[in-house]
Amino acid sequence: MAQEIFFVILNKMDFVICHYHEIGLKGKNRRFFEKKLVENIKRSLGSASFEFVKRISGRIIVKLTKKGKENEKEIKENIKKVFGIAYSALAVSCPQKIKNIQEKALELLRDKKFKTFKIATKRSKKEFSLTSPQINERVGAYVLKKLKTQKPRLRQGLGSQAKIKVDLENPDVTCFIEIVENYAFLYLEKIRGQGGLPISASGKAVSLLSGGIDSPVASFLAMKRGVKVIFLHFHAYPFASKASIEKAIKIVRILSDYQGKSKLYLIPFADIQKEILMKTQAKLRVILYRRFMLKIAEEIAKREKALGIFTGESIGQVASQTLENIKVIEETIELPVFRPLISQDKEEIIQKAKEIGTFDVSILPHQDCCSRFLPKHPETKSRVEDILKTEKKLNIEKLVKEAVKNSSVQIV
Ligand code: ATP
Ligand code: MG
Repeated sequence: MAQEIFFVILNKMDFVICHYHEIGLKGKNRRFFEKKLVENIKRSLGSASFEFVKRISGRIIVKLTKKGKENEKEIKENIKKVFGIAYSALAVSCPQKIKNIQEKALELLRDKKFKTFKIATKRSKKEFSLTSPQINERVGAYVLKKLKTQKPRLRQGLGSQAKIKVDLENPDVTCFIEIVENYAFLYLEKIRGQGGLPISASGKAVSLLSGGIDSPVASFLAMKRGVKVIFLHFHAYPFASKASIEKAIKIVRILSDYQGKSKLYLIPFADIQKEILMKTQAKLRVILYRRFMLKIAEEIAKREKALGIFTGESIGQVASQTLENIKVIEETIELPVFRPLISQDKEEIIQKAKEIGTFDVSILPHQDCCSRFLPKHPETKSRVEDILKTEKKLNIEKLVKEAVKNSSVQIV
C-alpha cells in the first residue's frame, strides 16, 4: 500500500506542454502571437496554479504549483478551451539523463493496463548525446525488461505482464518524451486543442447574441480566429419577460470560459418595435428590426473600437436570411458584417453548439424580442428602395441614440 501511494505521488504531472501549429507559421509576427498565447494560457489557468509560463523551442511550457498539480482535471478542462493550441499534455519532468528518463517512463507505465506500447521521442536539444531513435530504443528496452520482471504486486490487478510487447504501428499506449533546453518531459496522453488563434490576436468585434442556437456558435467561431468578442443582446423587457436576458447571460458565461471575462450589452428594443409595429407593413418588419440592430451595433462598435459585427445568420434559414434580404439588411451600415455560419446546415450548427456547451441553454424557452406580431408571409426578396421609403416614417436617429443610451453593460 505504502509503495502504491509513493508511486501516485511520484507520478503527479508538474508541467503542461502546449503545442501550436498555425502560430508557428506566422513569420515575423510569430512573437506577437506567442505572447498572446502565453497571456491566454495564464488567464485560463489562473495565477494560483502556475509558477511560470514560458515559450521554449516552438512550444509553451507551464510549470504547475502544488495547487495546480492537485487540480489536474480542472487544468485539463481549462487548457482545452484555449484557442491557438493544437494539442497539449500534462507531463512529468525529470533531469535530462537517460537513466532518469528510463525510470520516469517506467513509473508512468507501470500502473497502466496495456499489452503493447511504444516510446515516441522529440528532441529539440541537439546537444543531448542520444538521438530520438536511440532514446526510444533505450527507454523501450528498459521498460520492457522491468515490466516483465518486476514483482506482480506492483501491477496488481493488471493481469499478466509477461506478454507485454513493443508495437510501433498500433500500440495500446504511447509514452511521449520531449527533450527541450534543459528539460525532459514525459506524458502518455495528448489533449486535443481548439486550434485557431489566441484571443485578442485579431482585435475586437461585436457579436449579436440572441437567445437562439446559432449566434453563440457564430460568436465561438469569431473567438476561434483570435477575435475578442463583445456581446450585444436586444431585449423587449419590460414588454416581454426577462427570460431572454437571463439566457444571454448564461450563454455568455459559457463562452467566457473560452475568452475570459466578457462585456455584454443589454439593449432595450421595445420602443423601436413599437414604432415599427405602428408605422410599417408587417411583411417588412423583420428586415427593419435587423437594420436597426446593425445600426445600434455599429454605434457600440465605434465606441468600443471594434472592427466588425458577427451574426449567426445562415443562407435561407429563415425568411430574413435570403441573399436578397441579407444584402438589404447590411446596406444600412459601413462596418463589415461577418457571418461564420453562412453556409452551415442547422444540423451542423446544433452539433457544434453541443460541443461548445451552449446548446442546452439555447433551447430553453424564451420570448424573442422580434418574434411577436410577425406575419405568416414575410418578404423574402426585399428591395432597398422600399425599405428606405418605409424608414422615412421612422425617427431612426433618435431611436438609435436612445437605445444606445439606455443600454446597460454587464461583465460576465
Ligand atoms: P439564432 O440565430 O441565434 O439561433 P434566432 O434564430 O432566433 O437566433 P434569427 O432570426 O436567426 O435569430 O436572427 C439572425 C441573427 O440576428 C442571429 O443569429 C443574431 O446574430 C441576430 N439576432 C437576432 N435576434 C437578436 C437579439 N434579440 N439580440 C441580438 N442579436 C439578435
Ligand atoms: Mg437563426
